[in-house]
Amino acid sequence: MDVVPAEEPEWESDPFAMADRGDRYVGRGTADMKGFLSLAANRLAAADTSSLGRPLCLLFTYDEEVGTLGARRFIDSFAGAGRLPRDVVIGEPTGLRVVRAHKGMLRLRVGFHGQAAHSGYPHLGRSAIEPAARAILALAELRRIMERERPPHAEEFPEVPFAVLNIGTVLGGSAANVIPNRCEIELGIRLLPGMPAAAMAERVAETVRLAADEPFTIEQVSESPAMIAGAEAPIHRALCELVGQHGTQSVMFATDAGWLQRAGFECVLFGPGSIEVAHRPNEFLPAAEFHRAGEVLDGLIDRSCGRP
Ligand SMILES: [Zn+2]
Repeated sequence: MDVVPAEEPEWESDPFAMADRGDRYVGRGTADMKGFLSLAANRLAAADTSSLGRPLCLLFTYDEEVGTLGARRFIDSFAGAGRLPRDVVIGEPTGLRVVRAHKGMLRLRVGFHGQAAHSGYPHLGRSAIEPAARAILALAELRRIMERERPPHAEEFPEVPFAVLNIGTVLGGSAANVIPNRCEIELGIRLLPGMPAAAMAERVAETVRLAADEPFTIEQVSESPAMIAGAEAPIHRALCELVGQHGTQSVMFATDAGWLQRAGFECVLFGPGSIEVAHRPNEFLPAAEFHRAGEVLDGLIDRSCGRP
């Protein structure tokens, strides 16, 4: 249900008031992914329970954009999860492609402490930025090493067949005349299915330990696991047949599917709209794709929920 902020000055209309432009709907979350929520909600509202042979269920999560927190909370705390249908369609914007694999996203924060002092008396202080800089150079080298590796399932991600390490933010120092006592690096690592987050965190810690040569902290900010469904999974096959898709599709971004799969749900991604317009000003959803997705969902409900 959540969307990313919409503070960019380039918006041509109010991002939180959907604009119907005839061939497209414009607004924050139209593609990612409130368009799909409306399709799903309307199908449940329209469903005649007496004609359903098997249950149709909606799961609306929150805080997907900041680390799939709602999905994790759901699998950690919802007692009735075992009674819910196993097959799950997540309506992330895939341009109506049926996606059975995505990478995960591991956010790590590495912190260095120094001793603040007036830079006129450097012997009274200790820089936190310098060891961070050594760590950054070593992490850049680790990124290059990882780009040459081909972990299991690399073939499912032909565009980027390796785990991606991104040094996303560096925060440190207060003023040029002050020895900096704090420096933090945040990393975003896109893991392939089957790559344990703990092992990657340990690999990062070892890299920093060897390069920085100073005490540091490392913490996991969030984890969104990768996901891969079998090509023969009934939900995957049913959707591929409905849209006439042959072959496997994968995406590089993480979704709630990672946690749901951990809890035994069989997940695929299928939704209208493009990830390329998501998180950007003037995000839009093509009207034709929106309605086509609705038709496909109707067909899927017929098949999966046994409507005669
Ligand atoms: Zn998003």
